[in-house]
Amino acid sequence: MEASLTNIRYVRSLLDRHGFHFSKKLGQNFLINPEVCPRIAEMGHAAAGHGILEIGTGIGTLTKELVKRAEKVTAVEIDQRLFPILEETVGQYPNLHIIHQDILKCDIPALLEEEFGDLPVSVCANLPYYITAPILMHLLESRAKLETITVMVQKEVAEKLTAPVGTREAGAITVAVQYYGTVKQLFSVSRGSFLPPPNVDSAVIQIQLGTPYAEQVADEKHFFRMVRSGFSQRRKTLVNALSATMGYDKAAIISALQICQLPETIRMESLTMEQLLLLHRVLLEQFL
Ligand code: SAM
Repeated sequence: MEASLTNIRYVRSLLDRHGFHFSKKLGQNFLINPEVCPRIAEMGHAAAGHGILEIGTGIGTLTKELVKRAEKVTAVEIDQRLFPILEETVGQYPNLHIIHQDILKCDIPALLEEEFGDLPVSVCANLPYYITAPILMHLLESRAKLETITVMVQKEVAEKLTAPVGTREAGAITVAVQYYGTVKQLFSVSRGSFLPPPNVDSAVIQIQLGTPYAEQVADEKHFFRMVRSGFSQRRKTLVNALSATMGYDKAAIISALQICQLPETIRMESLTMEQLLLLHRVLLEQFL
């Protein structure tokens, strides 16, 4: 039997030998489609002169493709039970460092500095789906010096993250991701590509970091509070949502909307990024 991490029989025997059982709670669906990991590694900038931060190694299927191509790979994995398996599957690579930690508890800029020094770094991962949004926000809000984030997410989440701001498909997370970078879908992956197969299809997205809008946001905290408030009550008009959650006077919100040339009945989900930025500035002037 070929000792390949995409050979289902081999993977099952490896897991059996180590007495490993998948944890649903930790989002453990391991990639077994041989075409997917090399594509993620190549499109995710795993190459000489580049560092890669991987989140969630599983048994090392993507890790192996990354470490073969990149200068250095640092992977963060929460499940200690996987470490003896990883020793066997990817233990031979001197340019790989696996850290036993919860990624959400990692200080990302400090980790990058310690692990990669001056190397340009990108993130590549098949994310645990139960914490996709918290991980993306943790990476983005850390302002860590990352070049790209290339990650597998649920197809539905990929659609949401790449939807144009100002359309029904977009949400607060869409605004956040598109504030911190430029996002695109790279390719779709069927549920049969995983062991065990999840209940949904997946897609790989890539965020090219860079904040084209940062100069237009005078107060980032206020901007995101406004966005979250509007989306948390997305069926309400903006006037009702912002007055309820931010405590603004309705007449003042209406006047801000008029300055922005927006109708009184508008909802958060209809505002484009430019309109959100303008409303943020007008509200700040009005209420500070
Ligand atoms: N990269 C592997 C692959 O593609 O086959 C595994 C991907 S699996 C979808 C997600 C992995 O993330 C699992 O190995 C899981 O144990 C790990 N994980 C879950 N929560 C985590 C956390 N908070 N921090 C770090 N790793 C986590």
